[in-house]
Amino acid sequence: MKPIIGVSGSHIIDQSGRWPGYTRAYVNDNYIQSVVKAGGVPYMIPLVYDEEVIKHQVENLDGLVLSGGQDVSPVFYNEEPLQKLGGIFPERDQFDMLLIRQMLAQKKPVFAICRGIQILNVAFGGSLHQDLSYVDGCYIKHNQYSSPSLATHTITIEPQSQLSNILGETSRVNSFHHQALKDIAPGFKVTAKAADGIVEAIEYVGDSYILGVQWHPEMMAATNSSMLTLFENLVAEAKKKKTQPC
Ligand code: MN
Repeated sequence: MKPIIGVSGSHIIDQSGRWPGYTRAYVNDNYIQSVVKAGGVPYMIPLVYDEEVIKHQVENLDGLVLSGGQDVSPVFYNEEPLQKLGGIFPERDQFDMLLIRQMLAQKKPVFAICRGIQILNVAFGGSLHQDLSYVDGCYIKHNQYSSPSLATHTITIEPQSQLSNILGETSRVNSFHHQALKDIAPGFKVTAKAADGIVEAIEYVGDSYILGVQWHPEMMAATNSSMLTLFENLVAEAKKKKTQPC
């Protein structure tokens, strides 16, 4: 049996067609195709605001991809909004945080991407740099204009981490972020950094598989086998979970 992998959803406002301004639930297709290619069965998990419903959403999953998107509202890490903060969507922050906490409560594996690693860190008590220009020593281009699938900057990976088992001790990744992790949430460790010290990956140190990356492997997985391996690892963890009796 292939495991069921949820992909956390967002909203998109369609300004064209018959109902301009209509809200639609969506995820980017490359998350879906990456899960399929990795041997999982993808389900889009739409934003809902009822905690009981979120619990049931999670009960039906074997694993979760937390997808990318908006900046996290600084309200959730007790900061005022600074001038370079981007667009926020606090309802989605609430949904994602409930989803993450429920995945941990049910000990199911999570793979968090871009905004996903940021909301993951905030959900467990960490904080963010609201813009990379506020970070001393940050000099690398973390918001590339080249093709989404093109790896641009290098990362150094902590040996003896889940990530080094998957990618080895160094890798090259794409980069589409203007924020970064600041204080790391208790219970997590940094497992990859860019050459300028920006955090590129974290992992949960407890007995649940929760791995977050700052780049976008779903944009690379169609042509880059090591990036696909990140999804294959989630699927393998989800499969273990599926075969364990509850
Ligand atoms: Mn980067």
